[in-house]
This record gives sequence, structure tokens and C-alpha cells, in this order.
Amino acid sequence: MDSHRRQQYLDALGIVSWVRRDQVVAGNSEPVAVEARPPESVPATETPGQPVSSLGWEALEAAVAGCTACELHHGRKHTVFGVGDHNARLMIIGEAPGAEEDRQGEPFVGRAGQLLNALLRAIGLDRSQVFIANILKCRPPGNRNPEPDEVRACAHFLQRQVALVQPRVILAVGGVAAHNLLQTDDAVGRLRSRIHAYGDDQIPLLVTYHPAYLLRRPEEKAKAWQDLQKLHGLLQVD
Ligand code: SF4
Repeated sequence: MDSHRRQQYLDALGIVSWVRRDQVVAGNSEPVAVEARPPESVPATETPGQPVSSLGWEALEAAVAGCTACELHHGRKHTVFGVGDHNARLMIIGEAPGAEEDRQGEPFVGRAGQLLNALLRAIGLDRSQVFIANILKCRPPGNRNPEPDEVRACAHFLQRQVALVQPRVILAVGGVAAHNLLQTDDAVGRLRSRIHAYGDDQIPLLVTYHPAYLLRRPEEKAKAWQDLQKLHGLLQVD
């Protein structure tokens, strides 16, 4: 992407301060600070005779669609499986579906989704080139935070998605995603300053603010832009 178009995207996002790309050294400027282990999962919805950890995409999506492993299945209109490129270099993981996601069955739609799309475009990525998923596949009532038992019940689906995509980098957006993926209570403001490592494969994981938070606090967009530049650098590393 040329610098003029990038600046147009940044102007549209309302981002006025940013770091030159040559100040971001891809992948080697910061230590891998935290080794994250996926949370223990409860294999309550396995396809008969086949654990979730062995399912392909089609069977996995069907298992999610039919899942009744936690209370959230009672109130959902749709499960929100995830969307995007099954071979993406970047996997974006959020919290849980909101009202619009529940209606449409797709993660990150509505205003927060549009902002996420714009942020991705600013580093030359289209939404279709990444894989987007959530910690939970069903909407918590009133958009409350996920309960620990819900996260445990749902974790094996996300773990399988990560195993199938095998992303080069994971971007955790928002505190709920970061806390559950990294098993920490640290604030996003602290977590975003480091490159973490996720799972047995030690996949580089970055943390940034949730786009819904950025809509409420637009003055934080400059920090999100710094995070995306770091992300862009990591994605360039083979
Ligand atoms: S949130 Fe996850 S574990 Fe709970 S019912 Fe939905 S798919 Fe199943």
C-alpha cells in the first residue's frame, strides 16, 4: 500500500499521531514475555466417536451449531462460528458475539466491525484475508462478560480453530480475549506492550484494544495504530 493511501485510511480513522514504520523492527525488538497456555476445556459436545480436536472445518462448524454445553445456547439466535480465510496468517480473536453478531451469525459486524475492517485496511489487509473468531460462540445475555464455566465449555472449539488455521500471528482484541488466551488479569494497557506466545506452538500473540472500546475512547486509536504497526511487522517475518 502506498503512503498516500495509508494516510487517507488513517485520516478516516481519526488517527493523527503514528510511528514511522522503520521504527518498528519486525519481531525482534521486544522479548517474548509470556508463555500462554490455552485454558482447560470441557469436551462436552464431541461428535460421537470423534473428539473436537480431530474435527475438520465442516464437522467443527456443525458441532458448534449443535452445541448445548453451556447455558448460553438457550438465548442465542445463531451460533457465531467465525469467518475468514482458513489458511490466514493472522487470526483475530475477540470476546463473544453481541446483539448484531447474534442476529447475523458473524463476528465483528456493526460499528465495531467496521472499525476493525478499517484498521485492517490501514495495514493493507482485507477482512477476507484473516480469520476472525471469538472466545465464545454464543451471545452472553445483555453483553455481559463470559463466565469461567462458559469459557471452559467453549475453549476446545477455539483451540481447534487455531490448530486448523495455524496462524503466523494471533491478535487478541480486548481484555476478555487477552485474559482468557494468556491466563492473566493484567490490563490491556500493559499487555499490549509485549509480544506473547500462545500454546504449544508458541504462536506470537499481540494484544490491542477492542474496537468497541476505541469507539468510546477515540483518543486511544493512536495506540491501536502502534499495535497494528507492530502486527504488520510480525506478519512480514517468514
Ligand atoms: S457458548 Fe460455546 S459452549 Fe456455550 S453453548 Fe455456545 S458453542 Fe456451546
